[in-house]
Amino acid sequence: MTETSNLSIAVIGAGPGGYAAAFLAADLGMKVTLIDPELNPGGVCLYRGCIPSKALLHVAKLIDESRHAKNWGVDYSDPKIDLPRLRTWKDGVIKKLTGGLGQLSKQRKVEYIQGRAAFENSNTLKIGKANGHEESLTFDRIVIATGSRPAIIPSLKLETPRMMDSTSALDLSDVPGTLLVIGGGYIGLELGTVYAALGCKVSVVEMLPGLLPGADRDLVLPLHKRTEKVFDSILLNTTVSAVKEESSGIRVTFDGPEVKERERLFDKVLVSVGRKPNSEIPGLDKTQVKVGARGFIQVNKQLQTDDPAVYAIGDVVGEPMLAHKASHEGRTAVEAIAGHKVAFEPNAIPAVVFTDPEIAWCGLTETQAQKENREIKVAKFPWGASGRAMTIDRTEGMTKLIVDPQTERVLGVGIVGAGAGELIAEGVLAIEMGALARDIALTIHPHPTLSETVMESAEVFFGTSTHVYRPKRQ
Ligand SMILES: Cc1cc2nc3c(=O)[nH]c(=O)nc-3n(C[C@H](O)[C@H](O)[C@H](O)COP(=O)(O)OP(=O)(O)OC[C@H]3O[C@@H](n4cnc5c(N)ncnc54)[C@H](O)[C@@H]3O)c2cc1C
Repeated sequence: MTETSNLSIAVIGAGPGGYAAAFLAADLGMKVTLIDPELNPGGVCLYRGCIPSKALLHVAKLIDESRHAKNWGVDYSDPKIDLPRLRTWKDGVIKKLTGGLGQLSKQRKVEYIQGRAAFENSNTLKIGKANGHEESLTFDRIVIATGSRPAIIPSLKLETPRMMDSTSALDLSDVPGTLLVIGGGYIGLELGTVYAALGCKVSVVEMLPGLLPGADRDLVLPLHKRTEKVFDSILLNTTVSAVKEESSGIRVTFDGPEVKERERLFDKVLVSVGRKPNSEIPGLDKTQVKVGARGFIQVNKQLQTDDPAVYAIGDVVGEPMLAHKASHEGRTAVEAIAGHKVAFEPNAIPAVVFTDPEIAWCGLTETQAQKENREIKVAKFPWGASGRAMTIDRTEGMTKLIVDPQTERVLGVGIVGAGAGELIAEGVLAIEMGALARDIALTIHPHPTLSETVMESAEVFFGTSTHVYRPKRQ
């Protein structure tokens, strides 16, 4: 890759999109300034998103496994939760990672400014620094990577610590006796899983007929079944029409055809109804950047906005709002700025729900294929036939391939089961490499591993899976 010296570039926001962009720009020889309100790079992902949630989910998994261990002849007593130590551990993970990113910035000679940026024009930023000073700086190119924040339903807004969003839920100030999670999306389910493992009675309310709207139903089913055992209640087709604080909790009013109890009292409520892009950057109207109807900044495949000097990446430009999508967009934008012939047009962006079991998918989903009236063939391998799944007592999983029946090319992969988030990487690689079902079936996978389920789902496609007997049609 050629070096591009002399270009000066500012990146607003140091989340996984912003810092990945800034670091690559520095590696390519540009003069880089990275601006963010936090002490070190990291953004939502590291400070109040992916990383703290996964640290807590790891603990939740351990607690859950210790409870199951009696089925395997090992009896543990009930865990004692030391909340301050748990918080210290989680905060320590964040500190180590963000501190490491600070070090990497310094090593690359990225000028990191702790502060907030506003536009004066397409090339100039006014930066309000954390130390109270203000500075105007001019750049050849500016990359907006300001991310997103939790969406709020105005009618459900109450100024009380009993009402939480994902950020305050991750602070883990206490473990309430009862918690209502409003929204059955991945963030609500992940955080609900954590609180349930810590001993809280968790209920989830979702206005649509199923959890994780958008994901294929056969992937969601095993999760739904297990969640029914872990959560106190799951209310589908139900909306929350009112919330009111009382001395002993939040009184919640439910609406919907299946509602049995119209009002219930909860110690705490977590509102998790999606995220809003941070596109209201002061002074953005002094540039030619255009913001679309849903608040996302409009960009082309090079991540360039309608203003030639300004690029935008990550959550602020659209779905899927995921860290790895942000990083790849950040790197593409920088390469475009460097003059390389690039475009952000992935065949597959993996999505992972880190619940128990995990759900992961990439490429074409069955739901999408049905919507688009696309002819596909689906090959499913049940984990009940996997030796590895049996050894870890997690046979409820399933791996499926979505294949083009004419070309036999793999278009999509969906997995539900323990460790699905790690396994899906093989699916992404297969799709990006244009693999055929035969390629996967002929690739020798290690035994005994869950990765064999990907290979065997390809064998199922040909009706010749070793561990699935399919009687011949007469
Ligand atoms: C609870 C939770 C769990 C999640 N789990 C996952 C997961 O497991 N996997 C996954 O892929 N994604 C996950 N996400 C989503 C992921 O965090 C985001 O997709 C990702 O952080 C987006 O990266 P970004 O670079 O676009 O912006 P962000 O990470 O949102 O960072 C933007 C930064 O810009 C700063 N900023 C905003 N305005 C300005 C300004 N004017 N000047 C300077 N700085 C500014 C913000 O303060 C912030 O630090 C999770 C999110 C949440 C909330």
